[in-house]
Amino acid sequence: MSNLIQNEKVVNYINGEWVTPAQGKYASIINPANGKAIGEVLLSSAGDVDHAVQAAKQAQKHWALVPAPQRAEVLYRVGLIMKDRKEELSRILTQEMGKVIEEARGEVQEGIDMAFYMAGEGRRLFGNTTPSELKDKFAMSVRVPVGIVGIITPWNFPIAIATWKSFPAIVSGNAVIWKPATETPLMARELVKIFHEAGLPKGVINLVCGSGSQVGNAMVEHPDIDVISFTGSNEVGRNIAGTCGSLLKRVSLEMGGKNAVIVMDDADLDLAVEGILWSAYGTSGQRCTACSRVMVHEKVKEQLEERLLVEMEKLTLGNGLDERVKVGPVINSQALRKIDEYVQIGQEEGAKLLAGGSIAKIDKLENGYYYAPTLFTDVKATMRIAQEEIFGPVVSIIPVQSFEEAIEVNNSVTYGLSSSIFTKDVNKVFAAQRDLDTGIVYVNAGTTGAEIHLPFGGTKGTGNGHRDSGVQALDVFTEWKSVYVDF
Ligand code: GLU
Repeated sequence: MSNLIQNEKVVNYINGEWVTPAQGKYASIINPANGKAIGEVLLSSAGDVDHAVQAAKQAQKHWALVPAPQRAEVLYRVGLIMKDRKEELSRILTQEMGKVIEEARGEVQEGIDMAFYMAGEGRRLFGNTTPSELKDKFAMSVRVPVGIVGIITPWNFPIAIATWKSFPAIVSGNAVIWKPATETPLMARELVKIFHEAGLPKGVINLVCGSGSQVGNAMVEHPDIDVISFTGSNEVGRNIAGTCGSLLKRVSLEMGGKNAVIVMDDADLDLAVEGILWSAYGTSGQRCTACSRVMVHEKVKEQLEERLLVEMEKLTLGNGLDERVKVGPVINSQALRKIDEYVQIGQEEGAKLLAGGSIAKIDKLENGYYYAPTLFTDVKATMRIAQEEIFGPVVSIIPVQSFEEAIEVNNSVTYGLSSSIFTKDVNKVFAAQRDLDTGIVYVNAGTTGAEIHLPFGGTKGTGNGHRDSGVQALDVFTEWKSVYVDF
């Protein structure tokens, strides 16, 4: 299969139509595997956001009255079309974002699963009936749509995270304004095309492309957007939360992690190595859930390091379209520089570099953005490389002397997304799932690989209490209405 992307132009989709402005600024879309432009994306203005909101308001009035099981039928059709186009979508994803093709397939599959799962919710959307305190009175609570939903999505999971947010919003009867990351508008356009083909009425989903400072801010500040659901950096999320707070606007935030694997002295080390490598270097470390710290019991530290180094040799770096490649590029040159700066910081802080530690050059792909999978050891829990989110293929091994110390180190960061423990001791398993202060805990598996029917999100600096995915996502996109009927 060739179909390499070139010369694409992504514009807005408002009220069921693709809108190309007579004059408009565009940004290049770059394939991170070789640094070449594969197209361009419109940089919209606050006026375009308002245009989309007006269309959404009209559409939402009608959409909210469509029975939820019928709204769900559109999602079933979306799921079927995605399934039909899975390979094609995966190849676009790899070229636009860089993750290896096998992971791209996994991500598209996640979107398909989400379509069928949320379509099922259209037949449930349960409320409650409650006995009234009074005679001849009936009491119930029902979920109603919030209204207009603004979703702001990142480039690292350009289709999956968009489905986590748009599918529950739509099945609940809302209309959506969607700003995808400027790095990955092609995947956004594909999903919107699929909604269109599946028969979603015009105005229910609107795509407005552009920067966070223009489009994102205009969405956050718009008085007629009722909810913002955001996944991205902590810094941007905090600003969004500040504005939404002052406007009394509901906001759901997922802002990354500093996730750790704990390896106890009784762990199956082969399993631990597999879990660490996959969750640390998969997607080149650019998952919110990526493992960037390993707390290993000092008794097995050397053995673990030896085995990790042997397996790291086998991590072929390159263009993710090549099925043999295990680690693809990072998203862009700024990311490459930021990762490299952290590696310098780690060395200055006194951490010992065991592997990687440099920008990698790949033959014939000189301009791609590759960073060698990097492993530090003898890292102290307080060092910056062990505290701050790097969002790249960099892992810090932190030796510990006990289970208690491992838990304490895990909880010492400002984030709380995902954590994991490798042990055969059932008592430690249960204590860990209680004491690890993260939204997601894995036992005998790495820190990544969340499933869509469970809530996704975290504690502390990772989020603000809301969750993507699972039935819990419906809480973001619905209001509760209590109804009393006297008879
Ligand atoms: N779905 C991903 C996982 O659990 C994480 C998504 C993210 O990085 O936001 O591995």
